[in-house]
Amino acid sequence: VAKRGGRADYQFAMAAMNDASLERLQLESSLRHALDHDSLRLEYQPLVELATGRIVGIEALCRWDDPLRGAIPPNVFIPLAEESGMIEQLGGWVLQTAARQLQALHEAGHDNLFVAVNLSARQFQRGVVLAQVEDALVRSGIPPNKLELELTESVLLHDGEAVMSTLRQLKALGVKLSIDDFGTGYSSFAYLRRFKFDKIKIDQSFVRDLIDDPDNAAIVRGIISLALSLGLDVLAEGVETEAIAQRLRHLHCTFAQGYYFARPLRPEMLAERLGG
Ligand code: C2E
Ligand code: MG
Ligand code: MG
Ligand code: MG
Repeated sequence: VAKRGGRADYQFAMAAMNDASLERLQLESSLRHALDHDSLRLEYQPLVELATGRIVGIEALCRWDDPLRGAIPPNVFIPLAEESGMIEQLGGWVLQTAARQLQALHEAGHDNLFVAVNLSARQFQRGVVLAQVEDALVRSGIPPNKLELELTESVLLHDGEAVMSTLRQLKALGVKLSIDDFGTGYSSFAYLRRFKFDKIKIDQSFVRDLIDDPDNAAIVRGIISLALSLGLDVLAEGVETEAIAQRLRHLHCTFAQGYYFARPLRPEMLAERLGG
């Protein structure tokens, strides 16, 4: 088709391509444009200590407002970035931006705050992530222990020697490592034995029905006591009501995150919320 290159041939090719893959190509090129023109941004969701309600950290969450389509959720564009090879560039940008914005908050007097950054499995595969993390630390000047990296179980699924070695090197830099969405993968417990993480984040699907569903309550209780007996921090995601926060305090869960405490906030709103 491309060889003859006539207009009719082109139209034929476009018609043959199904709508979904066409839309996908367009989305991919818009994302590339956004990345190259620095028009992605980060929001930060407060992470609180349950006993006191104090904000101890923030999670960086990437946002993309496409001029034509409006806000596109990360559950759509992160997988797209992974599949199209843009995730390394995107991930590097997120690390740099989050570290720089945390440094500004430290300078404003919030010097105990840490920032958590999500890493996807693809960022691990070629080992570039190590250099990116080092670079973000050096350029921003934040202490390494104020950077936490959130890994999902999909990273750990390829639990080959390469991934383990990268995890050990990250740990040696002094950054913190947490397991995100804990409980949703299918061999969660194996990782706890293979590598010393700092924190477990209990997936929101278990937390949401904590009050009404006895099975979820049992799972949450189990994960909390597992974490505490391994000497790990534990955070519950997706806390939307006071009743759930109360129940989690009762179960000795240390940290929480969710709309009940705060939604993800733009940097200006976060600074306002932190006060000072
Ligand atoms: P995650 O890391 O598990 O982040 C938590 C998600 O839950 C966020 O969705 C947040 O807005 C949402 N959330 C927080 N509290 C509540 C609540 O009380 N109720 C409900 N229903 N939801 C709540 P968001 O921002 O849409 O991000 C979705 C996922 O996209 C993230 O899940 C993470 O896996 C991924 N993601 C976001 N930013 C990045 C990034 O910079 N890099 C990578 N690799 N992944 C990212
Ligand atoms: Mg996360
Ligand atoms: Mg999560
Ligand atoms: Mg999630």
